[in-house]
Amino acid sequence: NQQFLLDNRPAGEAVASNFKLVSSETPPLQDGQVLVRHHYLSLDPYMRGRMSDSKSYTAPQPLGEVMLGGTVGEVVESRSPRFQPGDKVVGMGGWQLYSVVNADEPGALRKVDTSHVPLSYYLGAVGMPGVTAWYGLVKIIEPKAGETMVVSAATGAVGSAFAALAKARGCRTVGIAGGPDKCRYAVEELGFDACIDYKLHQDAASLSKALKEACPDGIDGYFENVGGMVLDAVLPRMNAFGRIAVCGMIAGYDGKPMPLTCPALILTSRLKVQGFIVTEHMDIWPEALKELAGLVATGTLRPRESVAEGLEAAPEAFLGLLKGKNFGKQLVKLI
Ligand code: NDP
Repeated sequence: NQQFLLDNRPAGEAVASNFKLVSSETPPLQDGQVLVRHHYLSLDPYMRGRMSDSKSYTAPQPLGEVMLGGTVGEVVESRSPRFQPGDKVVGMGGWQLYSVVNADEPGALRKVDTSHVPLSYYLGAVGMPGVTAWYGLVKIIEPKAGETMVVSAATGAVGSAFAALAKARGCRTVGIAGGPDKCRYAVEELGFDACIDYKLHQDAASLSKALKEACPDGIDGYFENVGGMVLDAVLPRMNAFGRIAVCGMIAGYDGKPMPLTCPALILTSRLKVQGFIVTEHMDIWPEALKELAGLVATGTLRPRESVAEGLEAAPEAFLGLLKGKNFGKQLVKLI
């Protein structure tokens, strides 16, 4: 087996030398265990938080252990009656080629059907990022047909699923993304009604003006993935009683401070602002996954993937994700 361990914690920006590649033997299986060969590893922004030991909603990743991460793959050996060799499964196998999983642990491993949904999508649109978009939209923003929805990091794993879900509910849907290619793709392929390139704007006031043009009726729901200047630009455009689902603040993950310029707008516009962690809401996953799989099967949601080749490519691909180099769901193909 080959594995990436977290070797040391970042001081400021994360760097490739925070990770260490090692080889090891996979241990023999005990009763109830299965051996999974990973086809894809998911790279996700939350991993940056786990690399640090500052206070967060969950414990940091211990040093010297395999980097955690979502994986899809195939059962190659089983000592559990619940899984057979050849089963396609999704789990949290980590940054490695194989994992030994206690298959009886609830939620440790889930069989997936690849007849209508490609295996890798279970790490993106029909997996954790898709469910994240669903939860923020359906449970926090509670959209009504005809309302205007805005999402940042619009072409990413979460943002692209958000667009399909919001359009399905009859909302005007506007994205914010970095660069002309991502914005064109958002409108032409993802079905956004408009997409704004935040990189064309030096400050929040200028971005806010562009938002006013793209959202002539104001913004009723905002799905926040980024923070900083983008949030500052959106707040003045929120309609009274608007709802903001705070999902991520990626602009600050590498330690950049992100002061909020005008928090009084939350009061004067009577906004609901709510953060959430998708893995704390496992009860809604089946319903969300069912809708997302349906959108994929009908071709309504055609997510894009950025695929790095081979385990060795994982650190650079991950650092790129934190800088917006990915275009769609960032994966590492392992076989
Ligand atoms: P993406 O696929 O959207 O990739 C990250 C994107 O963030 C980049 O492509 C880039 O897009 C944007 N970005 C990166 N750095 C910056 C920056 N400094 N300023 C502005 N934008 C930046 O990732 P995901 O879809 O997986 O995740 C999106 C967000 O959702 C993240 O904040 C993540 O932490 C959060 N999340 C939260 C969960 C929860 O339970 N609360 C669960 C899953 C995800 P661009 O080029 O357009 O700027």
